[in-house]
Amino acid sequence: MLIVPEALIASLVTPEDAFRAVEACFVAMARGEAYNFPVVREALGGGRQYGFKSGLDRAAGQLGVKAGGYFPGNAEKGLINHQSSVFLFDPDTGRPVAMVGGNLLTALRTAAASAIAIDRLARPEAEVLGMVGAGHQAGFQLRAAARVRRFRRVIAWNPHPEMLPRLGAVAAELGLPFEAVPLERMREADVVITITSSPAASLMAAHVSPGTHLSCMGTDTRGKQEVEPALVSGASVFTDEVAQSVTIGEAQHAVTAGLIDAASITPLGDVLIGAHAGRRSASEITLFDGTGVGLQDLAVAAVAVDRARERGLGVDVGV
Ligand code: NAD
Repeated sequence: MLIVPEALIASLVTPEDAFRAVEACFVAMARGEAYNFPVVREALGGGRQYGFKSGLDRAAGQLGVKAGGYFPGNAEKGLINHQSSVFLFDPDTGRPVAMVGGNLLTALRTAAASAIAIDRLARPEAEVLGMVGAGHQAGFQLRAAARVRRFRRVIAWNPHPEMLPRLGAVAAELGLPFEAVPLERMREADVVITITSSPAASLMAAHVSPGTHLSCMGTDTRGKQEVEPALVSGASVFTDEVAQSVTIGEAQHAVTAGLIDAASITPLGDVLIGAHAGRRSASEITLFDGTGVGLQDLAVAAVAVDRARERGLGVDVGV
């Protein structure tokens, strides 16, 4: 078994690798070659969450689990709030193959999913990127989005405005003008990414213009919510996995309110394999409900393991 620690991941897996690996796993899901096991998520008290996301990708030969969670006190200790590790197993024998640091991989695979959705669903001429959120994931989201569209500027809102300058620095690195705005001005955006841990909607239908693409990435647990249910029901909704979207994703609230049902939500993989057209008009609002699936974690961890083996990196404990 190879141990690939967190400190090695940045040198092994690029955003481009993550984009390709996540795209392949969405395709395998759409073809019925890969599936996720039910998510386990438990509250540990004090706002801490811990859980397991797992799955089997027969096409890629990947079986495994990501164990991890959210620890809101970590930032004060100089650690990021999300902590996770990915374990890969041989799908034929069940023997352990690798243990891989999952923190950077989570950020890369989450940003990749959002960028794949933008790539496939946003209008090609999109120029203004709107960001709702400015925590650890937000910078990764902004960088990945900038790889798939030629944005001219970034507008951003966050419930904690003091966090926005850090996101502004990422925009500056990319050469993009950055402006902190009230939510009403999200109407200027062609693409909006939401990436907060909010328990209640902040982005309302009135804040979004026709033709916008939204990648809603923050809601990955029952009880979280970033956007008004009317915004979800008024959009064409896509997701990584429908079962997660209606239970732990952004769509859970519109489903509970009886505004939409699971049958109206399209897996993004269906767009990737050409089974669904994706965006149908320039005025349609498209919304990607990115809940984060275990197969994404396995896909990027497998890249890290392959690269580490090629370069003789990591610690082989010989099991
Ligand atoms: P973070 O702790 O670094 O940042 C939290 C963000 O949420 C900040 O923008 C903060 O201002 C905002 N926020 C915090 N408390 C809030 C509240 N009570 N109401 C409204 N907003 C609040 O977290 P992060 O690592 O950037 O993650 C952001 C979200 O993305 C989390 O909900 C996390 O679980 C989720 N996430 C989703 C996936 C996925 O695959 N979909 C993957 C990783 C993280």
